[in-house]
Amino acid sequence: MKSFVYQIVTKKLENLRICTLIVLCALAVCLVMERTAVEPADAQGGALSGMTIAVDPGHGGYDGGARARDSGRWEKELTLEIALTVEQALEARGARVVLTRREDVCLSDGDTATKARKRADLQRRLDIADEAGADVFLSIHLNEYRDRAESGPQVFYQKGGDAGRLLAGVLQQALIDGLDPQKQRRAMAGDYYVLRGKLPSALVECGFLSNAREEKLLMDAAYQNRIAQAVADGMENYANCRQRLEK
Ligand SMILES: [Zn+2]
Repeated sequence: MKSFVYQIVTKKLENLRICTLIVLCALAVCLVMERTAVEPADAQGGALSGMTIAVDPGHGGYDGGARARDSGRWEKELTLEIALTVEQALEARGARVVLTRREDVCLSDGDTATKARKRADLQRRLDIADEAGADVFLSIHLNEYRDRAESGPQVFYQKGGDAGRLLAGVLQQALIDGLDPQKQRRAMAGDYYVLRGKLPSALVECGFLSNAREEKLLMDAAYQNRIAQAVADGMENYANCRQRLEK
């Protein structure tokens, strides 16, 4: 009897050892597969390597843009904070990034806030992107609306431009996925001087400064990083779409 029980226990222990071995082997295979899946991208320097992205923090200097209702902060300050975070996220995935401004400045000369000065400022931003040999142009902005309930990211492209429409479409979806999957929205066509350049361009309104809840989020570094990661995800999708279209 004792030896029978001993045999059963020994058999069970043997089975357990075999099961543990199988699980360990499976784990090792998974780890190896994960490593090989990651390695090609690393070896090439990231999913966005070879791409130059112009990032334009909207407004600056005399042109503050929209003003947050509760905190009183200007759009120009937050667009710069977000653009600098976007720059980090894109560079981490291998892209070369060119910012149109890194300080609170207007890019055209003059003492007064004329239409011509504003236009010269916007044209300078387009020229910076062209001179850098950028592949795409992203202008970062923050929205406002009289209805304070309005919220969520909204991306625009220049009407009639297919490349911009594709870029805006993938960015819009990435921002929805990354920030607020409940609120579906499509990229919209518009007519903006800053989108009239030669490059595929999109104007990204990251959220509404007129919405009390979103105003707080837009000033939060962790949320700004979520925006940046979503923009980087969108740029990866855009790069993949372009590759497929070019095949
Ligand atoms: Zn703006």
